[in-house]
Amino acid sequence: MRAETTWQVVIIKHGTRMTTRSDAFMNYSFYGERDAPHRVDYYFWVLRRGDQAVIVDTGYSRHEGTRRGREVLIDPVDALRELGIDPEAGHPVVITHAHYDHIGNVDAFPNSPVYISRAELDFWTSPMARKTLFAHYGDPTSVDALEPARRQGRLHTFDSEVVVRPGIIASVVGGHTPGQSVVSVTTVEGVVMLASDAMHFHEELERDMLFQSMADLPASFDALERLRRSPAARIVSGHDARELSRHAALPGALSNLAATIGIA
Ligand SMILES: [Zn+2]
Repeated sequence: MRAETTWQVVIIKHGTRMTTRSDAFMNYSFYGERDAPHRVDYYFWVLRRGDQAVIVDTGYSRHEGTRRGREVLIDPVDALRELGIDPEAGHPVVITHAHYDHIGNVDAFPNSPVYISRAELDFWTSPMARKTLFAHYGDPTSVDALEPARRQGRLHTFDSEVVVRPGIIASVVGGHTPGQSVVSVTTVEGVVMLASDAMHFHEELERDMLFQSMADLPASFDALERLRRSPAARIVSGHDARELSRHAALPGALSNLAATIGIA
């Protein structure tokens, strides 16, 4: 029997900001709870196996981060170099959705195959994406940066799911954005589900709450239910401030900013 293809998951915190619970959760007043400070951390993910790597999301660009007053803890591209990964080496890049904090810096991967769901790409290249409630979270420069990838045959869109590499599957769940995707990764510790912004904070899954900005509410609840029913051993959030503490710190220079699951 062929051994399963297992990957190491690295979770990298590249940004952070303080806000309030009433800002983080949609219609927070409905819960009848007091407001309180709430930290939002910004992550991207790297899957490694020997000298192979798959990058899941590319963080926010310095320009978009600065424009929004987001603190840059480490530039995602610098973090990759710190991990010994050359962004120009052509490693696959998966974009879970096209919000500015997930697709920024995609132009730093000029040789990579880029995977994004068709529903996501169609939405962000449609007139609907220019409405303020959506555009607020957009990064048109980075969406435009997918065009050379398309011309060069490096852009791979998918409708339901795609096997990026054996053991790595991106699946569309929608809800937060029309083509929001999650990524399941086989590791020696079982399947790890990178929920990205299908679950910004673990509290959403635990209490059936939603983040403040969701494109489709029923689809968002369905996505949470799908995560609950998944056989994954661990579910990794898109923005939970306690995410790193749930896993082992990554040894080395990024230990304060990165955690890891499934070191073979
Ligand atoms: Zn996000």
